[in-house]
Amino acid sequence: MRIVRTVADVRAAVREARSQGASVGLVPTMGALHDGHLSLIRQARADNDLVVMSLFVNPTQFGPTEDLASYPRDEARDAQLAADAGTDILFAPPVEEVYPSGFATTIHVAGITDVLDGAHRGSHHFDGVATVVTKLFQMVGPDAAYFGQKDAQQVLVIRRLARDLDMPVRIVACPIVREPDGLAMSSRNVYLDAAARQQATALNRALDAAETTVRSGETGADAVIAAARTVLTGAGIEPEYLELRSAEDLAELDRVDGQALLAVAARVGAARLIDNRILEATP
Ligand code: AMP
Repeated sequence: MRIVRTVADVRAAVREARSQGASVGLVPTMGALHDGHLSLIRQARADNDLVVMSLFVNPTQFGPTEDLASYPRDEARDAQLAADAGTDILFAPPVEEVYPSGFATTIHVAGITDVLDGAHRGSHHFDGVATVVTKLFQMVGPDAAYFGQKDAQQVLVIRRLARDLDMPVRIVACPIVREPDGLAMSSRNVYLDAAARQQATALNRALDAAETTVRSGETGADAVIAAARTVLTGAGIEPEYLELRSAEDLAELDRVDGQALLAVAARVGAARLIDNRILEATP
């Protein structure tokens, strides 16, 4: 695995592989790698000749009161894990390479960014995500890019972005990878102390309860959300949001009809966690 830090170097490496007919897969990450990230790398490895993983803690997607400064960083560990999972090129640019002085452009995806994390973290969040992902696509020029369903709204934003701007890249969404007790893997789980770590399992259990409710034939949004909320309340968690929305365009739903996304965000101990589940009514 090669580590490159400049746009010129990542372009040159990709150009060389392409000249030999290689297909290129990109896995954007902010590092602090866990099995969720590694599942994306493995999928990219299975689908492509050249796998590029970017490692960049993108400052523009963090709000002023968020955890940019304390976000876990360990490049040597990440490089080892990325290499073992099949990465060919680790692209780890410094902030000035991505945002040189005078940088003045923002990509804004309207509509679907107004709800859930867009509403609760603020519009800067998905503007930062859309802008950095657009830049990474321009820098690397991948055939396919891999994202986790853990960040379900992010996947929708990036699909819309790629479609609206005619980006010649296939967006691949990969399933949520969980700890044995169901907690969705996240770089932010390191912020949880033992008590909060136990409490955090309630997010997945709440989604399970909602799914069980739908399976039993009760598809009304109020009942589905109430089933999840009961589990959260029982664990002492007051969600930031817990909403049932269309899995395609995040429109509000009053019942599970087609594919519905039940999305939750909550502060648990020192971490802000998100999780979600696609719910489908059985005919
Ligand atoms: P991050 O480093 O948090 O920006 O995440 C990089 C990519 O990994 C994003 O596409 C995430 O959705 C994905 N990811 C993070 N956690 C998981 C997980 N538990 N399962 C699957 N994908 C994940």
